[in-house]
Amino acid sequence: MNNLFRLKQRHSLYIILASLLSFILLGAVIYQNVGNMMIDQSKNNAMGLAVIAANEIDGDMFETIRSNTDDAYFTVLEQLIKYTDYHMLEYIYTMRLENGRLTFVVDADPKEPAACGEEYDMLPDIETAFNGQVSCDRNLTRDKWGNFFSAYAPIYNSDNEVVGIVGCDIMTSDIAERLHELRNVIIVLITVFALLCLCALILIARDMLHRDQLTEIANDDKIKQVAARLKKRGRLKDYTGMLVNIKDFKYINQQIGYNRADELLREYAQYLYKLIERNEYVARTGNDNFLMLVKKGREDYILKVLSPLELKLYVGEELKVMRMYSRCGMYSIMEEDNLSAVMNCCSLAINSTRNVESGDYAWYEKSMVENMVEEKKILESFKQALENGEFKVYYQPKVNIDTKKLCGAEALVRWIRDGKMVSPGEFIPVLESEGRIIDLDFFVFEQVCKDICKWMSEGLQPVRISSNFSKLHLKNPHLSEDVLEIINRYAINTDYVEIELTESSGYSDFDSLEKFVHDMDDAGIYTSIDDFGTGYSSLSMLKDINVDVVKIDKSFFDKLEDGGHSENLVGNVIHMIKDLDRIVICEGVETEKQVEFLKNTDCNIVQGYLFDKPLPREEFEKRLESPIYN
Ligand code: C2E
Ligand code: MG
Ligand code: MG
Repeated sequence: MNNLFRLKQRHSLYIILASLLSFILLGAVIYQNVGNMMIDQSKNNAMGLAVIAANEIDGDMFETIRSNTDDAYFTVLEQLIKYTDYHMLEYIYTMRLENGRLTFVVDADPKEPAACGEEYDMLPDIETAFNGQVSCDRNLTRDKWGNFFSAYAPIYNSDNEVVGIVGCDIMTSDIAERLHELRNVIIVLITVFALLCLCALILIARDMLHRDQLTEIANDDKIKQVAARLKKRGRLKDYTGMLVNIKDFKYINQQIGYNRADELLREYAQYLYKLIERNEYVARTGNDNFLMLVKKGREDYILKVLSPLELKLYVGEELKVMRMYSRCGMYSIMEEDNLSAVMNCCSLAINSTRNVESGDYAWYEKSMVENMVEEKKILESFKQALENGEFKVYYQPKVNIDTKKLCGAEALVRWIRDGKMVSPGEFIPVLESEGRIIDLDFFVFEQVCKDICKWMSEGLQPVRISSNFSKLHLKNPHLSEDVLEIINRYAINTDYVEIELTESSGYSDFDSLEKFVHDMDDAGIYTSIDDFGTGYSSLSMLKDINVDVVKIDKSFFDKLEDGGHSENLVGNVIHMIKDLDRIVICEGVETEKQVEFLKNTDCNIVQGYLFDKPLPREEFEKRLESPIYN
């Protein structure tokens, strides 16, 4: 039985119990009212008929009645007065209440039972009563509807002779009578049921407290509880903690709207729920983060299913298949760990996946703690460092290998921190994870525009300079305007700038990427796809997105060293990109051998240490002055 089913089943059980509670309470209220109504009804009818029976008889007056009647019953009699004509009461002789039944003994003419009312026609054994038998016997008569029983009393004259009989048809239903008798039992039962239902309600309330409202799976309170229980039993160590996060979910929110994104989140959560087995757990720990406790050894299977997960969702009328990419930080739980330790380790592991090279999944390692401290320092000092001018722009030349001439450059940022140069690999992923990279990219881009402006004013011939833009920029709907505004501010020719974007991951930012590239094209600004051959490279995407340049990543190019079919592969890829009418630039060229190889392909522009490392501005200016390489 899968967990989702168990969840629904438990919910239904609670609902049934809650309905039962309402039903029982309602039943109790109805019973109480109807029961009372019937009993009241029976009293009224008994009394009424008794009075009818008491016709035409002379006898003692009210005082006699009082003297013969217990006080308690006399109260009932007084009530009767309210309902009947006073003079009729004169004929009531005695009145008894036995076993809850009221019997009036009145004078009546035994020879004329009909005078007592038509009801007596159905008395089967009037003689018995005449002979002075005690009057009430419920089984004595029962009418054809089964609803009446009759009470009879002999009527005595002053000589103590039976002179008549009076009977009351007491119109109380058997059911009411029996219910009345069963009342105590029923009250006990109702109380028991009510208590049970109260427990059900408490369970429901507890369940709701432990359930994430949006996705209906457990929340972090629940998983804390579960983990504490597992730890107590010494079984937490049998699990691996997997902290899963949906990649680019903020962006998905913007793309499809919050309501749909919520639906998607629900689907995703429920999918995770289906993935876990009995005695495994998953909870939403906030936003698009989920913590799974899975049995050791099952991690690979789960990662495989998650990469990527395809979920169907209606967007308008259209049923869209959404590809959800996930990041995951894993930690193999040890004996001494509790859940917060597990969470910390998983968080550190997942944070390390922000680094492009590390991929989307990572296991916790001890060194991650030091990294975290370092990352915190970076984030804390970033703003001040930017204001203090600690970030410098370096330029790495791009060279045409046919002419050996400088034909462009890439702007690469460096952080001079406490007198030491920090390479972008150390701080860019950190800034990217917190969205701070946006400020840095604009700073670099503006610096590039400023430098181009300066070179032009100094009579130096600039080359096209590409600036790296994080894909986070694609979330900015005014990105194109912001870029153009900076170019216009420095009044530079758009031929001298180029924007590098890392290849888009999956569908999520595809539309924005397409729009941005289109806007730049309209403005005459080159765009390039950086790091082609890593991550989600696809030639089909190139077909759809009209970038001018494709930069082939060093790692792809490194395959050449492997020999074998690699040369063919690299050659063919370059060839295909060229066929799509794009400029190809190979990054990370370090050897003459690589240059020789590239000369035989369609790629004639390279960037790499063989020609130049990234240069400080002053050195790059020298390169601009003498752009030919020997
Ligand atoms: P990238 O844009 O792919 O830049 C190329 C990287 O390859 C640079 O590393 C460059 O120094 C290095 N490289 C160039 N030729 C060679 C070579 O022959 N051998 C080797 N081993 N490496 C070579 P760098 O400067 O460390 O930059 C790393 C990455 O940081 C860049 O990769 C880029 O993704 C990012 N980055 C740098 N500056 C910025 C920036 O201003 N904004 C953003 N968003 N990212 C930046
Ligand atoms: Mg680049
Ligand atoms: Mg690159």
